[in-house]
Amino acid sequence: MTDMLLEKAKKLDEKDSLQKYKNQFYLVKERLYFDGNSLGLLSKRAEAAVLEILNMWKHHQIEGWTEGKYPWFTLAEQLTEAIAVIVGGKKTEIMITGSTTLNLHQLVRSLQPFNSGRTKVVMNELEFPSDIYAISEILKEQGLDPEQHLVKVKSKDGHLLAEADILDALQDDVALLVMPSVLYRSGQLLDLNTLTKEAHKHGILAVFDCSHSVGCLPHHFHDWGVDAAFWCTYKYLNGGPGAVGGLFIHEKHLPVTPALAGWFGSDKSKQFDMAHQFTPASDAGALQSGTPHILSIAPLIGALSISSEAGIDQIRRKSLALTEFLLEGIKLELSHFNFKVATPERAEERGGHISLSHPEAARICKALKAEGVIPDFRAPSVIRLAPVALYNSFEDVYHCINILKRIMFEERYKKYSNERGVVA
Ligand SMILES: *Cc1c(COP(=O)(O)O)cnc(C)c1O
Repeated sequence: MTDMLLEKAKKLDEKDSLQKYKNQFYLVKERLYFDGNSLGLLSKRAEAAVLEILNMWKHHQIEGWTEGKYPWFTLAEQLTEAIAVIVGGKKTEIMITGSTTLNLHQLVRSLQPFNSGRTKVVMNELEFPSDIYAISEILKEQGLDPEQHLVKVKSKDGHLLAEADILDALQDDVALLVMPSVLYRSGQLLDLNTLTKEAHKHGILAVFDCSHSVGCLPHHFHDWGVDAAFWCTYKYLNGGPGAVGGLFIHEKHLPVTPALAGWFGSDKSKQFDMAHQFTPASDAGALQSGTPHILSIAPLIGALSISSEAGIDQIRRKSLALTEFLLEGIKLELSHFNFKVATPERAEERGGHISLSHPEAARICKALKAEGVIPDFRAPSVIRLAPVALYNSFEDVYHCINILKRIMFEERYKKYSNERGVVA
């Protein structure tokens, strides 16, 4: 391993204005964490927020809904300001509620895209399965066979989508475009602004799954005119396992009648009238259903305060520098070992992680874990490495490359079977 790379890592760390956040997270000694694109780490602020909510429950009991530091009745609403800045929307267009999948159901059903008489939905063949399941059921409810009405844009190489192929699919019988911001396997970042503008030219609604980009790079949902977006908060936002998700609905669609209606979607001043006549909130809050999962929102109070304070533009700048450095190391040190970089090289097309494709990927991942590097594996042959701006250093990246090189050079992965685990 060239010392030059280590020297460079150290120099980059010295100039890093976000390095002060690393010690706000719980890192495990002798372990390099590169899986923040699946589950972000616990921060001290998130932990403190959870303890505060438990404390409110302990001392305020039922009054916790309206008293104490973070009254639960409006806890989700209290967080919309911070998340609005992170995703580029107005506070009234955003809500912390549900989960990624649930929010896809809620948003698409509420937007009623098939009222236009159009019948097709454009997605892609590399899409996260949950989104395909949800849209398929929505189509079936409309009496539309997904085999015919769910159009999956094809990938030429099994990793990337060509923008031109997506645009070609935007025909006049299409009601809705549902795409990810960043593809979960390859880490390709799509140009949501262009896709939205092109969809609208054809009278198509544009809805995006931003699970792999929120908290890692800036968005401008409102200015781009995106119709709706949804995301999870347990990846780059570090909200913890199963943390409550987020959604955006453009103000041009407000007020909205929620398809999965429930009393927590009420205008807050009317909710406790307990009337059978539903008065939905006039903003995105209408898209809540039942009682919010307070204990799963709690960590977000602390986690969002870190992302907000660090600033999403600074987070993106460092994230790109980290993945750039990782790509450089891979090129320099791992070129003999049959890895293919599946992630686009151009910064504008890169999300927050780097994907390496290799026929032995499953067991290389096992070897990495045994040597103290936590990557993740996506079948059949992808290793994902996510150096996260808030808690990874350039030196971490250097060590990761070094360890991977040793595993390959000494064929240490051959000790393991080339099969995935149950959660992988
Ligand atoms: C992580 C992820 C999900 C997860 O959905 P949940 O409902 O939170 O389980 C969905 N879509 C994409 C693209 C993801 O990366």
